[in-house]
Amino acid sequence: MNAYTSRVLEGLKARNANESEYLQAATEIMESIAPVFDKHPEYEKAGLLERFVEPERVIIFRVPWVDDQGNIQVNRGYRVQYNSAIGPYKGGIRLHPSVNLSILKFLGFEQVLKNSLTGLPIGGGKGGSDFDPKGKSDNEIMAFCQSFMTELFRHIGADTDVPAGDIGTGAREIGYMYGQYKRIKGIYEGVLTGKGLTYGGSLARKQATGYGLCYFVKNMVEANGKTVAGKTVLVSGSGNVAIYACEKITEMGAKVVAMSDSNGYIYDPNGINLDVVKQIKEVERGRIKEYAARVAGSEYHEGCRGIWTIKCDIALPCATQNELDADGAKALIANGCFAVGEGANMPSTLEATNLFLQNDVLFAPGKAANAGGVATSALEMSQNSMRLSWSFEEVDEKLKGIMAGIFGKCAEAAAIYGDKPTNYVIGANIAGFLKVADAMMAQGCV
Ligand code: NDP
Repeated sequence: MNAYTSRVLEGLKARNANESEYLQAATEIMESIAPVFDKHPEYEKAGLLERFVEPERVIIFRVPWVDDQGNIQVNRGYRVQYNSAIGPYKGGIRLHPSVNLSILKFLGFEQVLKNSLTGLPIGGGKGGSDFDPKGKSDNEIMAFCQSFMTELFRHIGADTDVPAGDIGTGAREIGYMYGQYKRIKGIYEGVLTGKGLTYGGSLARKQATGYGLCYFVKNMVEANGKTVAGKTVLVSGSGNVAIYACEKITEMGAKVVAMSDSNGYIYDPNGINLDVVKQIKEVERGRIKEYAARVAGSEYHEGCRGIWTIKCDIALPCATQNELDADGAKALIANGCFAVGEGANMPSTLEATNLFLQNDVLFAPGKAANAGGVATSALEMSQNSMRLSWSFEEVDEKLKGIMAGIFGKCAEAAAIYGDKPTNYVIGANIAGFLKVADAMMAQGCV
């Protein structure tokens, strides 16, 4: 790290001492982009980094709602509008009891770089609430979503901030939020993405993050003289990203042998039967444990971290932040895993990431590898603005092209700035940063 990035990072640590996830993301980003400032001394003069690390706006609000027993519940809602230099804020809404400002700032910061990497005109933001959708009735989910939007509506819009789904926010929640927005504002606009297909959603959006991850991993693996077909794969999580990563990588000829949820993991040496997972997770909203009771030859193990001890060639962490730590990384490396693709945001700890890089495991960082979701959200915005719907194949083709483009940008920046040409962490951070930095410089001190 050079003197400028160290100084700014120290300042961040002093001012945000209790925000561990945010500081973890900021440290990785600052370490990666440090070489840029040697080539661009004008950035320091313009205080660019000090501005870049600080969100433009953070909104925190009360979300009161009434549960099925008639009791009043109160949750906390957030929207972090991080950076709008290259377009309207864009990023998901996370509904999970662990949500706090540190997690949303880390996600928003990552989102700025991710959205830049897509090549599309979208700035970065993130939002959410500590509301836990698990175990709630449809009525309670609707009551929460309506209350959440009753405050959020005044801060968002098709040209200002366009939220989307994330952990705990799927098509059902987006539908309730969209309905409430439309009711309050009285206009029909593409203010949210991940909408249902009957009211402005895009075909292939549901699949986009998982499919995009596989397209990125295939590009990365093939650029390094290897293949995906015939390989054994671990996919953690069993939510939206995990399910469609499993689907696409299987279609590419690989075999997925394990998936998980926050309670434990299933191991199926014959290859995961995704129809069973979809039935349990998408239809019944059940637990992954139930898979073992339905599929002969499979096993269930309590605890989600054990998944990384299974022998594999490729690992796709698709659940949540910091799910893959140094022990998990060591187990994967010892078992011969040669590629890791992050479907989730920051699933690998800094120690795990460094172990992968030091041991020449091909490592696709989340902000590049899972950018297919937000890229397709931007395609949904375009379709809404044009009042058109593209076919599944059209969207999927565009997604493939975008992911190939993102891999190309990461590889190019890694070759120029990285300690080695396969350091896609440096590549992704620098390629994402440069576009935003140029736009911020052009727009003056704002
Ligand atoms: P979902 O809510 O659909 O699924 C999340 C999955 O992760 C579930 O299987 C869940 O299990 C598991 N999980 C959640 N918290 C934990 C935890 N603390 N420990 C272990 N497992 C956990 O979310 P998504 O699939 O949409 O998102 C997954 C990741 O991908 C997140 O990091 C998200 O930010 C990222 N992402 C998502 C995008 C999208 O388009 N959806 C786009 C880009 C990134 P359980 O049911 O037990 O909670």
